[in-house]
Amino acid sequence: MTVARILASKGRDVVTMQPHNTLRDVVDALAAKHIGALIITDPQGKMQGIVSERDVVRAIAQHGADALEDPVSNYMTKNIVTATEEESVLEVVGKMSKGRFRHMPIVVNDRLVGIVSVGDAIKFRLAQMEEEQSALREYIATA
Ligand code: AMP
Repeated sequence: MTVARILASKGRDVVTMQPHNTLRDVVDALAAKHIGALIITDPQGKMQGIVSERDVVRAIAQHGADALEDPVSNYMTKNIVTATEEESVLEVVGKMSKGRFRHMPIVVNDRLVGIVSVGDAIKFRLAQMEEEQSALREYIATA
């Protein structure tokens, strides 16, 4: 099962901001869109970093609420781990578990085409398991 299947069902929208946007802009977007992370790009759309709710918590713990007025570039993670659509969901979950993060930007030739969270992967796998179970039940009932 590849990442492409998840993107086909959840969509390819990725919320992005630019490095000069403030941490407050990030917090507002995370809250409004009910998401846990967003991607920071330059004006040309090239990925510069990723910022998640965990970075926001860390920034406020270290610098207090004043951190909300700082540019997000101060707090984003610049070394982004990415995956491609052809990778299996299991591989991607493995990378997230190894790197101890919960969001994976999906790229094609370095171009951002989607984002998958641990939550998306679990939701997808559960739906798949339910389908398998009901197919088995049907098979047993008709055998
Ligand atoms: P998360 O578990 O996704 O909330 O993120 C935990 C930490 O890992 C934060 O500092 C994020 O900026 C960072 N992070 C999240 N996703 C990635 C990723 N795909 N590559 C590198 N760092 C990440």
